[in-house]
Amino acid sequence: MQYISTRDQAPEVSFPDVLLTGLARDGGLYVPGFWPQLSHDDLRGLAGLSYPEAATRILLPFMDGIEADELLAMTRAAYADFADPAIAPLRQLSEGHWLLELFHGPTLAFKDVAMQLLGRLFDRELARRQQRITIVGATSGDTGSAAIEACRDRDAIDIFILHPQGRVSEVQRRQMTTVLSDNVHNIAVQGTFDDCQALLKGAFNDLAFRDEVTLSAVNSINWARVVAQVVYFITAAVALGAPDRAISFAVPTGNFGDVFAGYGAAQMGLPVEKLIVATNRNDILHRFFQTGAYRCEDVVATQSPSMDIQVASNFERLLFDLAGRDGAVVRQQMAAVTEQGGFQVSPAALRQARELFISCRVDEAATTATMAEVFRELGVTIDPHTAVGLRAARELMPDGPVVTLSTAHPAKFPDAVEKACGQRPPLPDHMADLYEREERCAVLPSNLAALQDHIRRLRRS
Ligand SMILES: *Cc1c(COP(=O)(O)O)cnc(C)c1O
Repeated sequence: MQYISTRDQAPEVSFPDVLLTGLARDGGLYVPGFWPQLSHDDLRGLAGLSYPEAATRILLPFMDGIEADELLAMTRAAYADFADPAIAPLRQLSEGHWLLELFHGPTLAFKDVAMQLLGRLFDRELARRQQRITIVGATSGDTGSAAIEACRDRDAIDIFILHPQGRVSEVQRRQMTTVLSDNVHNIAVQGTFDDCQALLKGAFNDLAFRDEVTLSAVNSINWARVVAQVVYFITAAVALGAPDRAISFAVPTGNFGDVFAGYGAAQMGLPVEKLIVATNRNDILHRFFQTGAYRCEDVVATQSPSMDIQVASNFERLLFDLAGRDGAVVRQQMAAVTEQGGFQVSPAALRQARELFISCRVDEAATTATMAEVFRELGVTIDPHTAVGLRAARELMPDGPVVTLSTAHPAKFPDAVEKACGQRPPLPDHMADLYEREERCAVLPSNLAALQDHIRRLRRS
């Protein structure tokens, strides 16, 4: 499998390079040269397999250079510590509507599903190359803890995660700062999330520094993360009768990574009726699917902070396909975002997008009301991100079975849940002592030289 850039001006690369590179050198994102196909018999053959076995069959064609038994060992290890043996279990809510619980990993959000595998893929490739890397990331919440859990105690990796001091929830902070492994370094930046991102960018743009410490990234545009998420769309659909009936998915969306994985599943041959793009008040993607205009506005803070995003970086991968895989069109569109704040796609492209994608924006009051309703009617506690997806599913109700992706455990967002349901969700057993654990975290000013100094001093070489 060769990977090509959405901007068409970077060399084609194979899977190991896509894994370690992240962003293409022309600023584009890598996508597979073609989508491997699963026949209806292939799909039926996944029924009854364990999650790691199904993942191995689905992912193998994307990952050249890795043997099936090796990948199976990695997927088994990645999911061994998930709190539910099904890894991504379905829970029926009503006739024709299910929740897909993706929060049984170590940090209680769906990002663990991809990140746990990513950590192992990195390890394998770095060992093969006899190379070490320094991962630097910025987080406003869930990504940082998932990355830290995935990279802790790995010999070839040092990981530095920046978060804005005092601006992440206590659960989120403690999930990061209580990991005391030698290779894990938390940094509270005296500034906002934007300051953290600016520092990160500065570190990557300083090419001498970048080479000196072999800098690498684990942000959500990493292809390996996206493809690992294709798996649960397929396993859930097969469990509900695919390929013999088509399934719809409602996906709470921020960076368009998760829902793009659903698109990937459909491209591979899974019968998908509709993909519901569910946004909170930060609705750039909803506005796009309504009008064909992609236009940035200011980010507002909501109770589903992991979706408080203005520029949905993975969306470029869909734009590439809508443009008939013409990188020149994508280059123009991305330039228009920078220069004019947005662009409009052709009516034909919008029509094509709407064959599969429908969208819904859910405001704060509806999010709270949905958490309260589901708790009252079904006794089920859901987190605010899941509530956005579930509300969108209920409003749009496409034909046939619908699966809403439950992207976080309610205990990760206890304040929002308590406000809606009147009860504080308890942390799961393996985390019950989170508030008693020792924390370790450096505090740095929002200053690139200070950050670089810190990284040079603490990385093990
Ligand atoms: C990251 C995240 C999302 C958004 O996922 P994208 O892939 O960015 O669209 C939704 N819910 C939760 C809980 C998250 O952590």
